[in-house]
Amino acid sequence: MIIEKKKSLKEYTTFKIGGPARFFCIVTNKDELIEAINFSKKSKLPFFILGKGSNILVSDDGFPGIAIKMEMKGITYMEDGNTVKVTVASGEDWDTLVKETVEKGFYGLENLSYIPGTVGASPVQNIGAYGSEVKDMIETVHVLDVLKDEYLDLSNEVCKFSYRNSIFKKDPRRYVVLSVTFILNKKGKLNYEYKDLKEYFTYKKIKEPNLEQVRDAIIEIRKKKLPDLRDCGSAGSFFKNVIVSATKAKELTTKYPEMIVHPLNDKKVKIPVAWILDNLCGFRGVKKGNVGTYKNQALVIINLGNATSAEVIALAQKMVDGVYEKTGIEIEPEVEYVI
Ligand SMILES: Cc1cc2nc3c(=O)[nH]c(=O)nc-3n(C[C@H](O)[C@H](O)[C@H](O)COP(=O)(O)OP(=O)(O)OC[C@H]3O[C@@H](n4cnc5c(N)ncnc54)[C@H](O)[C@@H]3O)c2cc1C
Repeated sequence: MIIEKKKSLKEYTTFKIGGPARFFCIVTNKDELIEAINFSKKSKLPFFILGKGSNILVSDDGFPGIAIKMEMKGITYMEDGNTVKVTVASGEDWDTLVKETVEKGFYGLENLSYIPGTVGASPVQNIGAYGSEVKDMIETVHVLDVLKDEYLDLSNEVCKFSYRNSIFKKDPRRYVVLSVTFILNKKGKLNYEYKDLKEYFTYKKIKEPNLEQVRDAIIEIRKKKLPDLRDCGSAGSFFKNVIVSATKAKELTTKYPEMIVHPLNDKKVKIPVAWILDNLCGFRGVKKGNVGTYKNQALVIINLGNATSAEVIALAQKMVDGVYEKTGIEIEPEVEYVI
């Protein structure tokens, strides 16, 4: 394995922003990973685990330690009656996995179609879209515990998944995900209750879509809503949606009767931040220097060409302040800032 010096990270992120990593390597197996971690320990430098860089913003000054890019590959299927256990190495491409499982007729991952990134990153923020979260299909996450220097098989419960969160996100330098075991179904039930999907199938006059039709619909909808990463840099939604108390939601809907809210239970209500940014703060399609927000989705900050991370952070701060001013809510970034 080659450990390179002063490697620009820009090309390894979808934002196409950021300075160099002091050291950089690509790992394709456990031995190389151990070598890279030992290098970090011996040189007393921090390490950063890199997938496809689709949920990070790298500082303009770069990363002062070793960036370890995960490229371990391999997929195994174990069928057992109606269920299928799929164990996938962390460096596999997420959407290629979703495509393959859909083509095989296995239910479970279809609503998570077309999300960029690697399989190893999928449990980190418990990726979710169109009414589905990856936690519902994860059986075990196989990791290297860097603190204890041992391999562990973490059950779903141990991972403490919640909305865009997990133990991997809470304790970022502790575990390296080696592979993930998903449980899929041969005779599953499709979920197309999400508003955009429902509208899509009503418009297309499809009453009972099949697995492939759900994937195709999601890809079509996502292509309209999100920027094409070949045209401009982005890390998808920059902020998480917010979950507030029912009392706070009532206060807001009294002030803004048209506000969209999704009650989760009697006490908690989810509010789409994109709606607030767009309708209350006028942040959709804005431009400021080399950065802006996408014309079809205010939650997505885009690199208009040669943007710096400082510019992104300045715009993000304006968005945080704007939402707070209108609603009293403090929004949090979904994208991780790598410094
Ligand atoms: C256009 C666009 C649309 C998106 N849509 C969605 C969406 O609908 N839903 C959603 O949830 N996300 C979405 N995202 C965010 C992103 O795709 C996911 O978070 C994805 O899982 C990140 O994968 P990655 O390999 O690029 O991770 P990276 O960005 O490289 O890393 C993200 C984090 O995971 C850690 N990590 C990566 N691999 C490992 C590993 N093997 N072990 C331990 N830690 C690891 C990193 O250290 C970092 O903390 C979108 C992003 C873009 C650009």
